[in-house]
Amino acid sequence: METIINNFLNEVASRNRNQPEFMQAVSEVVETVVPYIVSQKIYYGQNILLRMVEPERVISFRVAWIDETGEIRVNRGYRVEMNSAIGPYKGGLRFHPNVNLSVLKFLAFEQIFKNALTTLPMGAGKGGSDFDPKGKSDIDVMRFCQSFMTELARHIGPNRDIPAGDIGVGSREIGYMFGQYKRLRNEFTGVLTGKGLTWGGSLIRSEATGYGVVYFIENMLQHVGQTIEGKTVVVSGSGNVAQYAAEKAITMGGKVLTMSDSSGFIHDQDGINQEKLNYIMDLKNNQRGRIRQYIEQYPKASYHEGQTPWKIPCQIAIPCATQNELLEKDALHLIKNQCLAVGEGANMPSDHGAIHQFLNSKILFAPGKASNAGGVAVSGLEMAQNSLRFSWSREEVNERLKVIMNDIHQSCFVYGQEDQGINYVKGANIAGFVKVADAMLAQGVV
Ligand code: NDP
Repeated sequence: METIINNFLNEVASRNRNQPEFMQAVSEVVETVVPYIVSQKIYYGQNILLRMVEPERVISFRVAWIDETGEIRVNRGYRVEMNSAIGPYKGGLRFHPNVNLSVLKFLAFEQIFKNALTTLPMGAGKGGSDFDPKGKSDIDVMRFCQSFMTELARHIGPNRDIPAGDIGVGSREIGYMFGQYKRLRNEFTGVLTGKGLTWGGSLIRSEATGYGVVYFIENMLQHVGQTIEGKTVVVSGSGNVAQYAAEKAITMGGKVLTMSDSSGFIHDQDGINQEKLNYIMDLKNNQRGRIRQYIEQYPKASYHEGQTPWKIPCQIAIPCATQNELLEKDALHLIKNQCLAVGEGANMPSDHGAIHQFLNSKILFAPGKASNAGGVAVSGLEMAQNSLRFSWSREEVNERLKVIMNDIHQSCFVYGQEDQGINYVKGANIAGFVKVADAMLAQGVV
């Protein structure tokens, strides 16, 4: 088996040189899916995984725009249209200086499995730009978004490819891009998700990824006779996913000790309650400030420049910032401190070594493609509401989100059985693979 896996990885690596993040995501899937394929007659010999790792289409384009000072700026835009076997391409846009093809291909590849797990008819895509919105004025962000969409518009559409937000792309950026798409096409369609509530957005979309990850963790805990109530929780990040993961953990009785940004983390031993979280939300979403400012408001808390929060003892860890933010040494700290469960809010936040430590230690470990699927699931519900020209209530969307997260947990449970318990990585990979592979087989060699 090891030889088959290595041969496969070598073939993929030879075609994708200098794409470490993409190869990391592929390796993680291959380790569990190849043994499954070999054991199943219908999939063996069809080269389905080899087809899945090759994007259906990659678009790369120049984004030239004029900033506030009159200077001409140039960025690079991308859209990776990865797989459309079960629906139109669907996945977020990321604006961050470290965006490159390797990062977007890893995200688009993970999206194949994640979108399949939601049970909704969505294919997989991902896109973005190396544009950095941090510290830019609203005018600069708008001009960039308009220029970016001027090119992207010809490649997307409500039945073709429906982008959403991701790192650096929140409601402000979605608004500017939607406005430009509408201007170019002269049509009002649900071409983007994460829209504002008065112009086609869905209730609970902003909350969905963070809430979903906590629902998933609660599901895992319930299977071992535990709940979130009374548990200490360490959260990384302070953006969209982190804010609502913290909010739901607090509502369910957890004690949230930390939040972070790319500069460092804050540790509040008394716990971040809803009032303190509201301060962080205002700081990040409106003032666009830094997490270190928290200790000016709450001086009993401490700030740790340039560090991640994984050494803080906790029972639940929720990484919600970015890829490879939780390394093997961090996993060892969490295990030593008797952490019970890790639920990934971010995409691929744990590196290869960390995942193996979690699996070996039998900690409850939920990979992002399962535990953070709530965001894209509610995006799917936003698309459904746009098609119906109708809006569901907050309670209705939240209930649907809960059902979807329960179903994802159940799929992982079914496919992740091992002698010593549930392997959620294996469960998520195989459950996602089966759905997409069946559709690809039915559609012939494409
Ligand atoms: P935001 O841009 O709202 O927040 C990102 C957070 O992560 C910020 O606190 C940011 O800090 C921090 N961060 C970004 N880059 C780094 C870095 N290199 N090192 C340390 N911290 C960093 O993004 P989201 O909350 O939307 O996304 C967070 C993660 O969740 C990503 O992995 C994304 O792919 C994933 N995700 C998001 C979904 C969604 O619905 N939004 C859905 C599913 C997954 P700073 O402000 O300093 O940059």
